[in-house]
Amino acid sequence: MISKNILTIQEKITEAAVTSNRSPENIKLVAVSKRFPVTAIQEAYAGGQTLFGENYIQEVQQKRPELPEQVHFHFIGHLQTNKAKIAAESCTVIETVDRLKLALALNRRLEELQKEMDILIQVNIGEDSAKSGISPEKAKNLLYDLKSIPRLRVLGLMTMPPLEPDPELSRPHFRRLRLLAQELSDKSLFLDNNRVELSMGMSSDYHIAIEEGATIVRVGTAIFGDRPARK
Ligand SMILES: *Cc1c(COP(=O)(O)O)cnc(C)c1O
Repeated sequence: MISKNILTIQEKITEAAVTSNRSPENIKLVAVSKRFPVTAIQEAYAGGQTLFGENYIQEVQQKRPELPEQVHFHFIGHLQTNKAKIAAESCTVIETVDRLKLALALNRRLEELQKEMDILIQVNIGEDSAKSGISPEKAKNLLYDLKSIPRLRVLGLMTMPPLEPDPELSRPHFRRLRLLAQELSDKSLFLDNNRVELSMGMSSDYHIAIEEGATIVRVGTAIFGDRPARK
């Protein structure tokens, strides 16, 4: 069931890419496994899925040792500074760096571990007071500051726009993130300014996000079904 859902989503990703004259290979699917057991991840992995998204660091810490090395976690939740160590050890990409203090904490831990880490900057594109992420106006200054933090590789931007009743209403938010990324890459603020990652789009609207330039889509429900409640 899970593998079949992933295939269906891959097909839709290809479709949306072709519609917008993009290459499907440039779009990565992160399967959001939060609150689902390790067995669900194993099933998806057996079907070829290797990227997974989690939003509680304790959950990554529990699941990580039970899974093969080829399974990679993108951290997509709010990260507390005091969890930087576990995040640095157990995740491949932190998509939700939104403040200098967190970046410094991560850098310190990476220094200890003698490694570098790929990150995205979480932008609160809808300026929604209920959401984390840096405001679009402040993103540029944060990126300038990050230039002097050696162990963080800033690959691009991530956003979680306000929940809209109609997925088509997410389009302006996605477009705004793409335009912001363009503005920042013009100033050479990313690791590769010719290939900036844009993580946007979830189960209900990833096809629209792809039309607007998403390179990473984060899909949970459409793969794993309805999430169990948090205990
Ligand atoms: C849970 C979550 C998703 C996946 O949402 P679905 O609607 O289940 O696809 C994507 N991004 C973030 C940041 C999330 O927390």
